[in-house]
Amino acid sequence: MTKNGSQKLEKVMRTSKWIFAVALLTAMSAAAQQAADSQPVAQPAAPDTKPTAQPTQPADQSQPAQQPPATAQPAQAQQAPVPPPVAAAPTTMDQVVNLFIEHEHGLIKALSTRTPVVETYLQNLTADPQLGPVPSEDHYFLGRMDMGENIDRKDYLKEQEKSMQSRLLGGFQKLYKVQYQPLGFSWMIYADRTDFDREHYDFRYVRREFLGDVRCLVFDVTPKKKSGTGRFLGRIWVEDQGFNIVRLNGTYYPAPRNSDFFHMDSWRLNLIPGYWVPSFIYSEEGDFSAGAKNRIAFKAQTRIWGYDLKKGAKDDELTQIRVDSVTDETPTTQDASPLQAERVWQQQAEDNVVERLTSGGLLAPEGDVDRILQTVVNNLQVTNNIDLPRPVRTRVLLTSPLETFSVGNTIVISRGLVDVLPDEASLAAVLAHELAHIVLGHNLGSKYAFNDRMLFSDDSTYQNLGFRHIPEEEEAADKKAVEFLKNSPYAQKLDNVGLFLKALQQRAPNLNALLTTHLGNPLATNGTVNRLSALATQGPALDNAKLDQIAALPLGGRVKVNPWDDKAEMVKTAPVAITSARDKMPFEVTPFFPRLARIGANAAPAAAPTTAANNPNTGN
Ligand SMILES: [Zn+2]
Repeated sequence: MTKNGSQKLEKVMRTSKWIFAVALLTAMSAAAQQAADSQPVAQPAAPDTKPTAQPTQPADQSQPAQQPPATAQPAQAQQAPVPPPVAAAPTTMDQVVNLFIEHEHGLIKALSTRTPVVETYLQNLTADPQLGPVPSEDHYFLGRMDMGENIDRKDYLKEQEKSMQSRLLGGFQKLYKVQYQPLGFSWMIYADRTDFDREHYDFRYVRREFLGDVRCLVFDVTPKKKSGTGRFLGRIWVEDQGFNIVRLNGTYYPAPRNSDFFHMDSWRLNLIPGYWVPSFIYSEEGDFSAGAKNRIAFKAQTRIWGYDLKKGAKDDELTQIRVDSVTDETPTTQDASPLQAERVWQQQAEDNVVERLTSGGLLAPEGDVDRILQTVVNNLQVTNNIDLPRPVRTRVLLTSPLETFSVGNTIVISRGLVDVLPDEASLAAVLAHELAHIVLGHNLGSKYAFNDRMLFSDDSTYQNLGFRHIPEEEEAADKKAVEFLKNSPYAQKLDNVGLFLKALQQRAPNLNALLTTHLGNPLATNGTVNRLSALATQGPALDNAKLDQIAALPLGGRVKVNPWDDKAEMVKTAPVAITSARDKMPFEVTPFFPRLARIGANAAPAAAPTTAANNPNTGN
């Protein structure tokens, strides 16, 4: 075999490994054959092969005075990547192409030490004559992605993953068995990790276009003939100041025999100076036009966050032993009384859990959304004369499944649940249930005051923490919550809570993954909603045809998470008029359309305070 031939073969092999993750392969045996075949090719040090040891490679020729990029930093104490030098303004489209190719490689290198959290939530679709495509069932993946040479991931949901895969194997046609490899959905973080260059691609300038506040140059990208399978085919948007790719839209091509690639729309945000960081990926397949013989239809949202988390917890377990929480918080110099000791102990557990979930990339740091949540909790407390020894705190769980739980005096509510709640009264209802647990002293989790119980790897968080109450406590908390609500400013709006519960019940049998909780009690079990059942009959009947009846919202409409530092804030969107029942999309996945802006261009996004009174109301 000629050197050129073997290089080419090696490249095809390398690509085929990626295909394995993304594509729908017919048979495992064929796949295994490919993997075995790639062994004899003794990885020649081809000139265009990226060496594994990236830090030794200079960032590029044009920045001699720059210090090496952040990849040279040790894995722990990571600093934000050094921004690339500002290039002279290009004068031709040809120069623009050179610049964004160079910057794409710079981004890949700058992020190669990162292990962000990746979540994919997928809804399979079926056609409903009134509502259009609606979810028939759903799937959920959560993991940490290593963005180094071989993009790899560790899953938080190991057991479920396995059972889900076996269910897929049993329930679906064999053709689609590798379809939901979780890695497949995060594949389009880059156009082409190894060969994004002029040798493999043609770039054709299309036009200028604004994405949000950012003016972009739009290019169509097509793989050159014989450049191998699984190359990017589609369109990219390149911002016109730093010349970085901010959006990719398309698929991979050509697909190997008997397989297919997803279509994806991948968005990046300018979260750190000089770089646009992969943040959201939307995937969709399916044709619902008359006569279409689609065998597969789904919508999926992939969110990436936690770029600034420390690398795996395993490497630095010892730093997690906490000795600082047993501080002297009582004004007296005497020993704590038994009751005081009990409270300090519970607070210690609470602090440990909150800190551990935050460092594991599952909780947002305290911020903007918490002020709204705390206002609602405070409204319930004041009107019910609830006086607790310590204030109630709230935190946002960054994940999509609909979930609340409490540990000590901290109430945790998931981003997905805040998203779908139609109004402040419904938010108050789900928070009231957790407040009731706190008031009734249903304190769980004091065992986490023992610090050894915080020593586990991030991806085993769900195996190590849990805050599920026994059914009797659930019932008591629901009863108490309804009492609180009836005394509160939300007493006149409980019809909306009833409507939300009805909407949830209507979709619950098809949204098992969205309703599967990982730390707290589920809102529904086996397709039946059991949370706050006393309010479930409250209010008018659910009527999809009534356009002014908004019982639940789509996912993703309220809470915006900064993928770099995990800060959560409320989205301020103007309400969009609903013109048909199909616009309601309760609990559904939709495409992403973030308003792009350059970092620093938006004067302090966290500056504008929001209040519960004027914010969670867009639905009504
Ligand atoms: Zn509960």
